[in-house]
Amino acid sequence: MPAVGEPLVQTRDLSKIFRVGDSRVVALNRVNLTIPRGSFTAVVGTSGSGKSTLLNMLGGLEKPTAGEVFVAGQPLHRFSESQLVTYRREQVGFIFQSFNLLPQLTALDNVALPLSFRGIPKRTRQARARAVLAQLGLAGHLHHKPTQLSGGQQQRVGIARALAVQPTLVFADEPTGNLDSRTSEETLTLFRAVIRRFQQTWIMVTHDRHLASFADTIVSIGDGRITDITQTEHAQTAPAVATQKVAP
Ligand code: ADP
Ligand code: MG
Repeated sequence: MPAVGEPLVQTRDLSKIFRVGDSRVVALNRVNLTIPRGSFTAVVGTSGSGKSTLLNMLGGLEKPTAGEVFVAGQPLHRFSESQLVTYRREQVGFIFQSFNLLPQLTALDNVALPLSFRGIPKRTRQARARAVLAQLGLAGHLHHKPTQLSGGQQQRVGIARALAVQPTLVFADEPTGNLDSRTSEETLTLFRAVIRRFQQTWIMVTHDRHLASFADTIVSIGDGRITDITQTEHAQTAPAVATQKVAP
């Protein structure tokens, strides 16, 4: 396993243009970003600035119009649809604002389900799901269904589901958008603890600067471009995110 601090994500002039009728929307405009292994990055910007588009391209949900995106040295921009499906299933964890839990399944089964798509045997799936839920303080709620859990607990089940697949990278798009401010802060504190404990790499999108300050690095975007990269007080202990200057 490569060391913490080595580049995990690298983009080169990454661009995404949407065509809507006769008009073009430049959602991302030549973004150059390097994200090291083991870091926690927040991407901030106003609505429509391109945050989700960036996340979707790093997460293999969409293909860039131009430019390159490498994750652990793999050229995602050259991947076929089926390679992207495998990448998403095996290397990426997604955490959603709306939790996206299946209402008819228990917490345990929600967390174990993605492991079945990887062909992991049932006993191992259940054991791993149980262990991750216990680490997130949900050992007493394994058999609860989502409606029997608070918003913060549902989000922790969502986090457990993302972590159970032991992903290379975790993406969270406005993960606390449906939580009150106190639960949001608790969730972000939990993110930090999980990232350090499991030496993971997380990229979170938020429009909330205060919540972004829980990350090591804040990448600001506006109009599809990186406008600023700031290290937070947590950054001393974390690898640094960078944007490369690329000749025009
Ligand atoms: P953010 O997440 O920062 O709010 P997005 O990445 O969702 O912003 O969107 C960036 C820009 O791209 C916006 O102008 C948005 O309207 C546009 N956009 C995003 N997705 C699509 C799409 N599928 N089709 C057309 N335009 C899109
Ligand atoms: Mg968005």
